[in-house]
Amino acid sequence: GTQVVDRKVDSVCPFCGVGCLITYNVKDEQIVSVDGRDGPANHSRLCVKGRFGYDYVHHDQRLTKPLIRKPGIAKNDEEAPQPSHWSEVFREATWEEALDFTAGKLKGLRDQHGRKSLAGFGSAKGSNEEAYLFQKLVRTGFGSNNVDHCTRLCHASSVAALLEGVGSGAVSNQVNDVEHADLILVIGSNPTANHPVAATWMKNAAKKGTKIVLADPRVTDIGKHAWRIMQFKPDTDVAMLNAMIHTVIEEGLADLDFIRSRASNFEALKENVRGYSPEAMEPICGIPAQTIREVARAFAKAKGAMILWGMGVSQHVHGTDNARCLIALCSVTGQIGKPGSGLHPLRGQNNVQGASDAGLIPMMYPNYQRVDNEQARGWFENFWGMQLDDQPGYTVVEIMHKALAPDSDPHKIRGMYIMGENPAMSDPDLNHARHALASLEHLVVQDIFMTETAWLADVVLPASAWPEKTGTVSNTDRMVQLGRRALTPPGDAKPDLWIIQEIARRIGLDWNYAGEESGVAAVYDEMRQAMHAAIEGITWERLERESSVTYPCLSESDPGQPTVFVERFPTADGRVKLVPADIIPANERPDAEFPYVLITGRQLEHWHTGSMTRRATVLDAIEPMATASMNGADIAAMGLAAGDVITVQSRRGEVAIHVRRDDGTPNGAVFIPFAYYEAAANLMTNAALDPFGKIPEFKYCAVRIKRG
Ligand code: SF4
Repeated sequence: GTQVVDRKVDSVCPFCGVGCLITYNVKDEQIVSVDGRDGPANHSRLCVKGRFGYDYVHHDQRLTKPLIRKPGIAKNDEEAPQPSHWSEVFREATWEEALDFTAGKLKGLRDQHGRKSLAGFGSAKGSNEEAYLFQKLVRTGFGSNNVDHCTRLCHASSVAALLEGVGSGAVSNQVNDVEHADLILVIGSNPTANHPVAATWMKNAAKKGTKIVLADPRVTDIGKHAWRIMQFKPDTDVAMLNAMIHTVIEEGLADLDFIRSRASNFEALKENVRGYSPEAMEPICGIPAQTIREVARAFAKAKGAMILWGMGVSQHVHGTDNARCLIALCSVTGQIGKPGSGLHPLRGQNNVQGASDAGLIPMMYPNYQRVDNEQARGWFENFWGMQLDDQPGYTVVEIMHKALAPDSDPHKIRGMYIMGENPAMSDPDLNHARHALASLEHLVVQDIFMTETAWLADVVLPASAWPEKTGTVSNTDRMVQLGRRALTPPGDAKPDLWIIQEIARRIGLDWNYAGEESGVAAVYDEMRQAMHAAIEGITWERLERESSVTYPCLSESDPGQPTVFVERFPTADGRVKLVPADIIPANERPDAEFPYVLITGRQLEHWHTGSMTRRATVLDAIEPMATASMNGADIAAMGLAAGDVITVQSRRGEVAIHVRRDDGTPNGAVFIPFAYYEAAANLMTNAALDPFGKIPEFKYCAVRIKRG
C-alpha cells in the first residue's frame, strides 16, 4: 500500500490451505493493512479473507489473562458464551497459578486413572512447531497417543485412501499445475469460496483451454467456467466414479502399460466395476450415461488430467471409498506421475498438511510413522528418551464418546488439553459433543478468544494470534512457509509454544528449547530430524532466506519436488494399489419425517467456526448472519420467500435461520455454513464415522424444515 507504516512484516495468510504469502503493514502496534506477497502459491494475489480478515487480532474480546473457573459454577453446555457473563464464571489468575493448577490436575488424573485418561486436541491453525511439540507432550507427558486435530473432520478419509493406495497422504501435483492439464476434475469442492486464489488459477487455465469438469451435488461458482457439470445426487459419488472407471476399462481406454508396470490389484478393480455401467448408474447418481461416458473418455484421452477434491468427497461414511475411486480413476488412465496430472485433495486449514506431517494424529508419529510399528516406535523412544504407548490413540469423535464412557471403562477420558481447536462448534452432533466436554473432570483450553469450547473449560489460557508469533506452516502444495512475528501479544497473552513448554515442565518433562521466541528454531530443527528425509533440505536458515520451500526436499541444494510419483510410488512394492469400492449408503437417509438432506460447509467470508472472521470487521459486515441455502423451486414449493425465517431440525438438534435462494443447491437439500454459533449447523449433523478415516458424515443427514 501507499500508507506510511512503522514496519512491514512478511508472513503467511492464516486462513486456507492455499498458503498465500502476505505482508503485514504495522503502524502504532496495529495491523493497518495486508499486502499480497509474490509467493509461489499466490503470486501477490489474495482473497477477501487474506486481505481484510486481520483485525480480529485487535478485537476487544481477546483473552489477556489466564482464567480459572470459579468454584461451584456449573459448565453450561446449553448457552453460548456471553461476554457479560464471563466474570461470573471465571476469575483472573496469574500464569504461575493457572499453569500449576492445570498441570497438577492433569498429572493427578494421569496418576490416579492411568495414561489413557487424558487426551489432547491441537489445531491445524497452529504452526508446525506447535503441532510437533503438542503431540510430543501428549505422547511423552500424558503417556498415550490420544492426540488429534481437525484433520479428522477434514481429509482424514482422503489421507487413509492415499496412504493405502499411493503410500503418501500429500498431494501428487501442486495447484498451479492446472495450467499444464488438458482437463481438471473438480469434485466435492467449492474452490471459489474455500480456496479462492487457487480457483483463480483454475479459471486462468480454463481461459487458455483447460477443460474444467465440475462434479458436485451443489453447482457453485466454478461451474460458470466448466466444460461439463455433473450435478450428481448427494451421496452417490461411488456410483458415478465407478461408472467412469467402468467406461475407461470397457471402452479400451485404460493405460495398460502404466497398469502393468506401476499398479497392483487391477483385476479385482476391473471385476468390481463390471456391474457399474453408466447406464446402470444413471438412475442412481442422476447423471446421463452419455455424459459419464463423455467425461470418462475426455479424462482418459487428455494429455494431462488432474483431480482436485474437497470435503464433498471426504466427509461421508464412505469418504475413504470415494477417494479410492479417485485414485483408481487416475491410475487406470495413467494420469499420475507427470506434470498436469495426479491427485490433489485441497487442504482446508492453512496448516492441516503440516500439522498431520508433524504427527498431530493418534495413529502416527511425525512423517506418518505408525505408532504400532515396532521399528518406528523404537526410533522415537530412542529419539525422545522415553518408553511410548504402542496402541493408536482415539480420534476426535471417539474421544468425545470416551469422555462420556462409564466410570468403569479403563479408557474413559477425564482430562483434556485443547489448543486452538473449537470442537464445541466443529464436531458433529454438538449437543453430544458439548455435553462430553462439559463432563470432563478437567479441561484446559488455550485460545485467543472465549470460544464455545473455552466456555466449558476449567482453565482458559490466553494464547497468541498468528501475527504475534514466528513459525512455519505447510500448505496444500507441500510448501513449508515461514510466518514472522509482527506484533506483541496483548496483555498477558503468551505464545503457544511457551505455554506448551510450561505445561510440559510441570508434568515432569525435562525439555530445553533455547533461543528466541520460545526456541522455535530449535523445535523446528528437532521436528526436521523426526521427519527423516522428507524435509531434510529445508533448514530454518533456508526458510528465513526463501520463505517457502516445497518438499520432498532431500538436501539444501534440492529445489524441492513439485511433482511426485514420477518413477515409483512410496509403497512397499513401489506400485499404486487399486482398491475396489462398492456403494455404501449414507448413515441416515431422508424419510417421511425428515425429508430433506442437510449439507454443511463453508462460505467465502467466514472461516470454519467463525472465531476469527466473525470478529473481523469487513468480513462480518459482508456476511453478518447465518443463512440456509435452498433452491428457488423448493423455496416456492414451501410457500416461502428468500429472507424468511425457517427452523431446520434433525433428530439431534435444530436451528432457526434465514432462507437464502441459491439455485445451485440440489432439490430436496439445504446447505448451511457451520460458522455461526447462533445457528450452529453441527447441532444437527450426524456423528456416524467412516470406518477407515474416522471422519464424520458432515455432508449428509436427514432434516425437516418448518416455516418460522
Ligand atoms: Fe488466505 Fe486462502 Fe484467501 Fe489465500 S486464498 S488469501 S491463503 S484465505
